[in-house]
Amino acid sequence: MSSFKCKDIGMKCKFEVKDENQDELMSVIALHAEKTHNMKAPFPADMMDKVKKAIRK
Ligand SMILES: [Zn+2]
Repeated sequence: MSSFKCKDIGMKCKFEVKDENQDELMSVIALHAEKTHNMKAPFPADMMDKVKKAIRK
């Protein structure tokens, strides 16, 4: 099970998500970033890097 917490990338946000499938997890994170943090995909490489590092397996 992979999990991600928004606060782990320095956001003041309580969002967290868990999923068995990492691709699924990434798409949920992308959707959240768009809706809640006003970020438009494609995300900058350093942002993706941060997110990937914050994902716990
Ligand atoms: Zn968030």
